[in-house]
Amino acid sequence: MTTKVRFAPSPTGKLHVGNVRTALTNVLYARQTDGTFVLRIDDTDLERSTKENEDLIKTDLKWLGLNWDETFNQSDRFEKYDAAAAKLKETGLLYPAYETGDELDRKRKIQRAQGKPPVYDRAALNLTDEQKVAYEAEGRKPHWRFKLSGNPVSWTDLIRGETTIETSSLSDPILIREDGSYLYTLPSVVDDIEAGITAVVRGEDHVTNSGAQIEIFEALGGKAPLFAHSALLVGADGGKLSKRLGTLAIADLREEGIEPMAILSLLAKIGTSDPVDAHPSLDTLIEEFSFEKFGRAPARFDPEELARLNARVLHQLDYTAVKDRLVAMEADGGEAFWHAVAPNLESLADAKSWYQLIEGPVTPVIEEADYIAEAAAALPAGELTGESWGQWTNALKEQTGRKGKALFMPLRLALTGEQRGPDMSELLPLIGRDRVLERLKS
Ligand code: GLU
Repeated sequence: MTTKVRFAPSPTGKLHVGNVRTALTNVLYARQTDGTFVLRIDDTDLERSTKENEDLIKTDLKWLGLNWDETFNQSDRFEKYDAAAAKLKETGLLYPAYETGDELDRKRKIQRAQGKPPVYDRAALNLTDEQKVAYEAEGRKPHWRFKLSGNPVSWTDLIRGETTIETSSLSDPILIREDGSYLYTLPSVVDDIEAGITAVVRGEDHVTNSGAQIEIFEALGGKAPLFAHSALLVGADGGKLSKRLGTLAIADLREEGIEPMAILSLLAKIGTSDPVDAHPSLDTLIEEFSFEKFGRAPARFDPEELARLNARVLHQLDYTAVKDRLVAMEADGGEAFWHAVAPNLESLADAKSWYQLIEGPVTPVIEEADYIAEAAAALPAGELTGESWGQWTNALKEQTGRKGKALFMPLRLALTGEQRGPDMSELLPLIGRDRVLERLKS
């Protein structure tokens, strides 16, 4: 059986780290098994879905390198959903209910007061045709509920293992709203059957839906796929992530200078038994992927860990991988430049300030003018190379008796105006003889 999986975002907002983790899990599983990864746009809610969000989601996924093999929109498929709904109505499994939101609220309040679970009482199943006609005459429109079996539904979840949902403890799910619009539940099953999805991989918040959806698969004559539900993300302190999800939008992380592979390296490993490490490409993540490594406990997402990983991912990048971006930032100082500054970067944007430091103008910090004058005179002759710094400081050491910080720091401060920075032996040839002398003599 060839794997076919799908990531199914609703284009009602931006892509955030929570849904990227789901997308990534799908991609890793599909690639490891030479399967197909489908991007399904769940846009049946025509009011809240926008083309703009859809485009942003696609931009973000491409930027992350999570490329899909096929894509389609649910909004192009209403006929299919109507046909499925008609089939369920015929068999009596999809029934109209006329309660208003307020009436349903009242029922739930009473149930709670009686110490009962707030499960829909199925009053609508007992409506006579006359009562229905009367409701419609009043101007009420029905919403449509799927009649659950009341039996336990079990499956062997690829992450959670044996999982059972007692459908007797659930309200019959609403599949079609009063205005005729579909909730994602039915369209999702229709699409999964038609696309031949072999495994539904998504967050744990959908476990209960899976109980109902397995019954809908069967009611529509399909075979339920495998399921994998991953534990949700929480913040570093174990608290809810959802409040901060706004700031964890992928677009924002990109703006902040976070590398795609930093995001993917972290999201692939948190909540699993593997260590979190900087991975230069998806290849090793694909190799190491296994549902068995996923734990049941919530996965901790720590923005500080992301920042550390980002630095490590950057340090591993080749010049060729960043050249275009450096050019766009007007900070392309060539391969030697990249080699010198990469170890000092927390984000690629930092390369700009190091570039300016080399090109100048810098404001030299000169505290000991005599020493700096002596240093200017001792600068090795000719073009500065990777050896020059060593030769220069050795000569100064002998001449002045200085060593350690007293020897180096005044030079760094005079040449860069900064106390810290890239390796001076690499910087020196990049700054070049003329600018070095100019800074020492300023
Ligand atoms: N559009 C649904 C969501 O984003 C899809 C859930 C699923 O993967 O089936 O929650």
